[in-house]
Amino acid sequence: MSSSVGTSAAVTADGVIPQSNSTDEIVAELRRRASFVFVSHVKPDGDTLGAGLALGLALKAIGKRVGYFQQDPVPRNLRFLPDSEHVAREVPADLPADTLWVFCDMSDFTRAGEFLPKIDRANMLDIDHHLGNSHFGALNYVIPTEASTGTCVLRLLRALDAEITPDIATCILTTIMTDTGAFMHTNTTAAVLRMSAEMVELGADKPLITEEIFANKRFAATKLLGMALERAVLQDDGQYCWTYVDEEMLRTCNADGEDTEEIVQHLRAVEGVEAAALFKAYEGAVRVSLRSSGKINVQAAAAMLNGGGHFMASGLTFEGDLQSAIEGVHAALRAQGL
Ligand code: AMP
Ligand code: MN
Ligand code: MN
Repeated sequence: MSSSVGTSAAVTADGVIPQSNSTDEIVAELRRRASFVFVSHVKPDGDTLGAGLALGLALKAIGKRVGYFQQDPVPRNLRFLPDSEHVAREVPADLPADTLWVFCDMSDFTRAGEFLPKIDRANMLDIDHHLGNSHFGALNYVIPTEASTGTCVLRLLRALDAEITPDIATCILTTIMTDTGAFMHTNTTAAVLRMSAEMVELGADKPLITEEIFANKRFAATKLLGMALERAVLQDDGQYCWTYVDEEMLRTCNADGEDTEEIVQHLRAVEGVEAAALFKAYEGAVRVSLRSSGKINVQAAAAMLNGGGHFMASGLTFEGDLQSAIEGVHAALRAQGL
């Protein structure tokens, strides 16, 4: 998820932040290396995965060796993505030592999870659009003004003069539709719409993306949504709406973590709400999704609790139980103007 609002880093005319490498430097490195592994973040979304698959497909087409590392399995609603059947947690034994590990859509490599093997910084490329990216790579291509990591990749594809096949176009359009909430969020600029139209012209399967990611919900997800909304709380003069999902609710609805995705947007859409939170208390942790309507910087609120993201959409993993998470997040949102 992303937003064009609240970008605080000083950016150059083309939007690349100063500590980042230039497009030419990144392209030279992509040409120089022979082997690549694309890394997506835990709880993968259409941006982290679509961005890596798009660049991976383009590099394969020019004869490079390409693999994909992801700690979690590919979510059900992203299995339509071309080449996603090659995404794995295992790293091949014969992987060349000078393989370039390309991290997509994460502000730090720790977001790739604890199963990521130890990788020298010299072999890390960081492609991202998050605020507060730690520039963890030897090479960093961080453009916070971009709507998705996939649109950062699209700049590289153009500079590489890569052929944008229908499969690649589908991956790029998936990144855009994921991070704009299907063209709903404020990061849906004219340029983003133009790029999306171009992807459709190049053969991107927009109906498939819409169906797989934004429709096609399991009945369990709809039941869970109902239960979570019934428990929603509206407070702070109607400006803050939150709810939670716990193990028992998942069990009752026969649902799992992938069925929680759209809950928070219903809270954010309530008239008058400036901030929304979903507390996900299962799998041994309390993970929190935060959304803003434009006044409150939820990235800053999440950062106070060791999380991150964007002005309008952020997340964190809370160290403690559900009750303390609810209190801690409320305090952080108050500190950001709730
Ligand atoms: P989500 O609510 O999971 O859709 O995440 C919204 C945004 O917050 C995304 O841009 C994520 O990359 C970011 N985010 C989620 N969880 C974390 C975390 N634990 N640490 C840093 N960023 C996060
Ligand atoms: Mn992401
Ligand atoms: Mn993203």
